[in-house]
Amino acid sequence: PFAIFAGRRSSAGLDLTDPVAFEAMETARGSFAKHRWQAHSLGAMDGAGGQARPVINPANHADTVGAVTEASASQVGQAIATASASKWADVPVAERAEMLRRTADLYEANAAEFFALLAREAGKSWADAVAELREAVDFLRYYAEEAGKLTAPPRGPFVCISPWNFPLAIFTGQIAAALATGNPVLAKPAPQTPLVAFRAIQLMHEAGVPADAVQLLPGGPEVGTLLTSNPAMAGVAFTGSLPTARRIEQAMAAHLPPHAPLIAETGGLNAMVVDTTALTEQAVRDIIASAFQSAGQRCSALRILYVQDDVHEHTLNMLKGAINELVLGDPWKLSTDVGPIIDAAARDKIAAYIAARQDKVLHQLPAPAGGTFIAPTVVGVSGIEDMPEEIFGPVLHVATFKGDELPKVFAAINASGYGLTFGMHTRISSRVKRLATTVHAGNIYVNRNQIGAVVGSQPFGGEGLSGTGPKAGGPHYLPRFTQGGGDLQDR
Ligand code: GLU
Repeated sequence: PFAIFAGRRSSAGLDLTDPVAFEAMETARGSFAKHRWQAHSLGAMDGAGGQARPVINPANHADTVGAVTEASASQVGQAIATASASKWADVPVAERAEMLRRTADLYEANAAEFFALLAREAGKSWADAVAELREAVDFLRYYAEEAGKLTAPPRGPFVCISPWNFPLAIFTGQIAAALATGNPVLAKPAPQTPLVAFRAIQLMHEAGVPADAVQLLPGGPEVGTLLTSNPAMAGVAFTGSLPTARRIEQAMAAHLPPHAPLIAETGGLNAMVVDTTALTEQAVRDIIASAFQSAGQRCSALRILYVQDDVHEHTLNMLKGAINELVLGDPWKLSTDVGPIIDAAARDKIAAYIAARQDKVLHQLPAPAGGTFIAPTVVGVSGIEDMPEEIFGPVLHVATFKGDELPKVFAAINASGYGLTFGMHTRISSRVKRLATTVHAGNIYVNRNQIGAVVGSQPFGGEGLSGTGPKAGGPHYLPRFTQGGGDLQDR
């Protein structure tokens, strides 16, 4: 029954409640407290990049984490030529898989440095950083395993464009999938998080992946446009915003070979429904995690909570009390629950959104100083139709419904067009059974939080405006990187 785990070992992670393990890791991580990293283009190309610019800690603007030199247009051109000539497809799949497994081991061996980078460059809390490294390692091992089940040939050079909110896990997952199936990779990390991406590619090279098989091109939308509009590219894997996905689609349609795949995971207007049979303490704990962990900077995060009218006041009171207990601040400290917003542009957008709805704010904590912070905020709305767009931060909308209005609530959620995560707290089993056919969402969670999908056992991805599918970390992901589409053996 557990054939899915055959030959594969999940990352053990780190138990932060074990004082011995924690102390050892804290000491190791401490040696990177003042370290300054450098990032630049990495691979088989040479030539100068652009101007170096500093990378600043979003939680503490006095802390310079390092510097990045972004890729120049000529480097992008060279990298494309190099990838096109790469012989990566000829490397037997068993050898490719072995390199990915070695990369996973090197990631774990460098855990302290990754934890430091994730905290200082990406504002990740300790717990988030531990989970993120585990997920990255699991992607490497899982795709290494899955690739052996495919027979279809690779497609060719793949562009991987990843987000800053999972700068190690999603960055690694896209690349590992493309590499495992034999495609050379051109990776563009988010401009906010090039340093952790640089270390990851260095370790892939150290693990034996040739410099022409995976190249790093740090930069912004200009670099992305050069890559996604180059006819030598065979496909694009992208996680990020819907407007960017649309731009990529247009560039691909105009310049890439017909039918080159776009594998996109975009945003969501994720809802949770709490009915009168829910256990309030449990629901509140899961609402807090879903809406405010990672400062709400997850595609999967809860954006709108529907609470049945009879339990609305009680649930909201308990929720406010739980929010008051959250520790905001520098994610370097173990006690921090909610870290910073990634940068000033993102912070300003969220702040403007809240300011425009000041009269609807039901609860908000004071924000810490020293970095780009937004404190957890609760905003009252009549329903999802009042929400203009995904707000990527710790802003939870709350609406109420009457017992006989549940079908209307589900219809409104589906009418948003998004379909990433959905959560429900209920003790009515017939309701639970119907959810999968009633709600259009890639990932549905019942009586638990709705973040933190698990590679190999709980694949992650959306439908409608939320993405193209297939789900990452599941058996349908790799075939999209091949010319076969789906010929899986052994299943
Ligand atoms: N896989 C993550 C989760 O389940 C979300 C990924 C994202 O934010 O893009 O929470």
